[in-house]
Amino acid sequence: MSNEQNVNPLNEYYNDEYPKQPQSPPGLQKEMDPVPDCGEESYKGTGKLEGKRILVTGGDSGIGRAAAIAYAREGADVAIVYLPEEQPDADDVKSLIEAEGKKAVLIPGDLKSEEFSKEIVKKVVDELGGLDVLALVAGKQQSTSNIEDITTEQLTSTFETNVYSMFWTIQAAIPHLSEGASIITTTSIQGFSPSQNLLDYASTKFAIRGFTIALAKQLAPKGIRVNGIAPGPIWTALQISGGQPQEKIPEFGKETPLNRAGQPAELADMYVYLASAKSNYVTGEIIGITGGLPIA
Ligand code: NAD
Ligand code: MG
Repeated sequence: MSNEQNVNPLNEYYNDEYPKQPQSPPGLQKEMDPVPDCGEESYKGTGKLEGKRILVTGGDSGIGRAAAIAYAREGADVAIVYLPEEQPDADDVKSLIEAEGKKAVLIPGDLKSEEFSKEIVKKVVDELGGLDVLALVAGKQQSTSNIEDITTEQLTSTFETNVYSMFWTIQAAIPHLSEGASIITTTSIQGFSPSQNLLDYASTKFAIRGFTIALAKQLAPKGIRVNGIAPGPIWTALQISGGQPQEKIPEFGKETPLNRAGQPAELADMYVYLASAKSNYVTGEIIGITGGLPIA
């Protein structure tokens, strides 16, 4: 990076071809080449979320990890949810949060389970003394060329992970949320401009948009805000572990006007903004961070 004031977005981050690198889902980001940039070296906090208690699902890697690191650096205690096989990535996030002198709560488990999706709220409230912000980032994406090949198991697990778990976790959270709380969902460019190979996944991302806007209306009288972030192509484990066919990996992100994939670190500030009172007049919004692909 040259000058903080004037950084060229075309080459601020890696903009070369990516090596093919299949992993089985959910994948480990520490084994990726290049390793996604989640702001480990770059994110600097200024106390914007001092004393907040924040739950981040999918906080071990990718976009959720970038949010979790930023939240801790802004002064929050942070709990992260992830699948048990992602423990090595989660352990790194725990160290990064604790390096800021903040509490880190690790909650491995499967969000496809209603019981677990609700239990995580109890665990956060018990360990952090309350809950102020939910950043719901966990997601499942498996590329499938033909609709006939989408098994009922894949269809169900994609909807359970991406959509049902949000209902369950927020149902459990409502009694603990007070005025000023913030809920952040994670939709996608796929929730606006769906690809032909992501029928099931894109459908969940359209659903998340509707959910976010309707829930914002429902919770506004309680002083609770709900917004969604719609990322474009971001270099994460989701993509190399079946989210894209491997032949698309080298050119991943090149279809954007900015001609490169984004890095998770580039989303952190928006997760912070929507969590903080700086965005107190913002609710029911879906905000795109897409490298220039239009969301409309
Ligand atoms: P990622 O693989 O690093 O993170 C996704 C996380 O979801 C995993 O780390 C895992 O912990 C969690 N997860 C998946 N299934 C789970 C389950 N059953 N139980 C518990 N946790 C589970 O990838 P990412 O790209 O950072 O994904 C984060 C979010 O961003 C997802 O919702 C994804 O749909 C969305 N998104 C990603 C992109 C992109 O290009 N990477 C684009 C648009 C939207
Ligand atoms: Mg992960």
